[in-house]
Parts: sequence; structure tokens; C-alpha cells
Amino acid sequence: MKVALIGVGQAGGNVTERLAQFDADMGFGAVQGALAINSAEADLHSLEFVDTLLIGADRVNGHGVGADNELGAEIMQADIQQVVNALDGRVTSRADAIFVVAGLGGGTGSGGSPALVHHLQQIYDVPVYALGILPGRNEGALYQANAGRSLKTLAREADSTLLIDNDSWHEQGESVEDAFDRINGKIAQRVGLLFASGEAVDGVGESVVDSSEVINTFRAGGISVLGYASEIAAEEASENLRTVMSVSRQALLTGTSLPDATRADAALLVIAGKPEAVPRKGVEKARRWLEEETDSMQVRGGDFPLESDRLGALVLLGGAERSSRLDEFMERAREAKRAQEDEGDREDPADALTDDRLEGLF
Ligand code: GDP
Repeated sequence: MKVALIGVGQAGGNVTERLAQFDADMGFGAVQGALAINSAEADLHSLEFVDTLLIGADRVNGHGVGADNELGAEIMQADIQQVVNALDGRVTSRADAIFVVAGLGGGTGSGGSPALVHHLQQIYDVPVYALGILPGRNEGALYQANAGRSLKTLAREADSTLLIDNDSWHEQGESVEDAFDRINGKIAQRVGLLFASGEAVDGVGESVVDSSEVINTFRAGGISVLGYASEIAAEEASENLRTVMSVSRQALLTGTSLPDATRADAALLVIAGKPEAVPRKGVEKARRWLEEETDSMQVRGGDFPLESDRLGALVLLGGAERSSRLDEFMERAREAKRAQEDEGDREDPADALTDDRLEGLF
């Protein structure tokens, strides 16, 4: 699937850069153009592989919007013409879809990405998807509240919102920067493979996925989720039946970008590896298993030729919003928003100490 990528804010820019880099390193050629947009000039300087655009300079002078996502949305709306001009040539007739990439908890990406998606939908015929990153549980109330509002708006505006939970691939004892770096690498590999798997490949078998199958899976709308797992494979396809089943299970049950999301309206299973090592029967069996597990009648399957001694399973779920993890997150966001509003109601600082939601000791 040929895509144009637009990263908004710091996370959006970082992830877009990693995706563009991965696609170039692997020689896939699925990324047709990549643009990073920010209101914070310093965050754009660290990017090397994508084009950049500073917005809102007249309002915030290149210093960013902090975590004010309403200001992020205003700035995007005010400078939308500049963005559209910068996109010219990137969103050509070659792009099958546009992805707007952002961290949902901050300011520029949180507010700017829904505003941008809304505008792009008026201009382009190709689907406009969002790739949204949810803040981790310990990121603070403002981030949760921002992400809740941003996600609600994105889900309404985008053809589908592919969600990545910053907690889902977290490891113990890592610094925040190390964690972001690793998570961004995982996003680039998984999403990069998804883009590439919808590309025609010369001289290989009939089960290769094409971009319309990726788009049809996203067509379920709402929230989409991506899972991945891989294992060392044997040389012969006939010896890899169990491996295909095992990587498919892991991809769905432990490897998704939003833990616990297993029910979906549509799904796509892509088995990546050397063509001679992929057992067609195994792929079909795993596809049927996925049908039962996701409770969906629309499960597509295919393989993707990749020069590797491993077999990988990539699972895309479309219409996967019936997830307890998502419910839990939205509740956290609502609570954070309520707490913010209560805070705003207490204008007299002395009120803070008489707040009756906390009981005295005696
Ligand atoms: P913005 O620049 O105002 O849009 O805000 P940021 O992108 O800095 O932060 C928004 C959210 O993204 C927060 O929840 C951050 O924790 C998260 N975040 C920031 N940078 C990265 C990154 O490089 N990778 C990932 N996965 N998350 C990030």
C-alpha cells in the first residue's frame, strides 16, 4: 500500500521518521512521502529523514503549545493552507492512503491531528487514517484527559484510527527516552510491514495480500489494532505448520498494539517469510482460527515474501473498539477531565483545604 505520512507533534514526527527510515532500509518503497509538522521548532531539528514544517510561529514563536491541545487545534486550523501547500506532490495519485501520526496526550499532535484529518477528508479521495499513540498509565491526568478528547474526535473524523498503547510494549526499568526509542522501532517494523504487505511483489504466489485487502480491513472503521510475533522457521514449508499457528496466536493474544483487543469486525492475517517456508495450509488454518477468535466473518489472509530465517505473523484488526483496555482508558480520561473541571471550580485557594472529597483524620 503506497502511503503518504504526516507526523504532527513530537511523537508524530519521531514515529514518522522511523517509519520512513524502515521503509527505505528495507527497500519496500511503500512510503511515498513523509512530512513532520510541529509548533516547537527544536523538535523538528532532530529529524533527518523527513520534510518538516513549523506552524503557529505567529502565535507561539516556535516554542510549542505545551500540553494545550485546544491551542494545538487552533494553530493547525489557522495554518492549514501552509500544510496543504507543503503536501502538494506528496499526496499524488500514487498514494493509496494518508496516515496522520500523533501522540494523543500532548498539545500539538493531540489537538492538531484531528483538525488536520478533518481538513484532509474534504480535499482527498483516498482514505485518511490516524495512527494515534495513547499515553502510558503513569503519564499524568492532563495527558489522559487530552488523549481522551483527541481520540474521541479522531475516531469521528478518520476512516480508521490505528491505536498504539505506549504501555503495551513497555519493559521494566527502562528510561522514558529508551522506552520511546524501542517502542518507535516496534511501531516502524509492524506498521512498515503492513504498508509493504499491500504491495505487489514480482514473481511470487497467488496469496500475496494487496492494498485493497488492507483498506477493506480498515473499512470497518472505528479503532484498529496491529499485532505481530515471529519465530525461527524450518527450511521446508511442511515443517512450519505449528510455527504458523503459534506466531498467529502470539500476534493476536500477546503482541497487539492495544492489549486485550481481540474482538473485531474485520481482520487481516499476513504471514511473512521465505515463500518456500510458508505452508499454505497452515496459513488457511490460522486464518480460520482468527475468524473464530475475533468473532468476525471477514478475515482475510495471505503471505508476504521476505528474505528471513524467521516466520512472522502480522494481524490487523478493524473495528476493534470493543476492548476492555479501551474502556478502561476512556474512563481514566473522563475522570481526569472531571478532576480538571473541579479544580477550575475552586477559585478561592482556601477551598482546596476544605474539599470534602477528602476526609479529615479526626
Ligand atoms: P506534542 O509535541 O505536543 O504533540 O506532544 P508529544 O508528542 O511530545 O507527546 C504526546 C504524547 O506522546 C505523550 O503521551 C508522550 O508520552 C508521547 N510521546 C512523546 N514522544 C514519543 C515518542 O517518540 N514515541 C512514543 N511512542 N511516544 C511518545
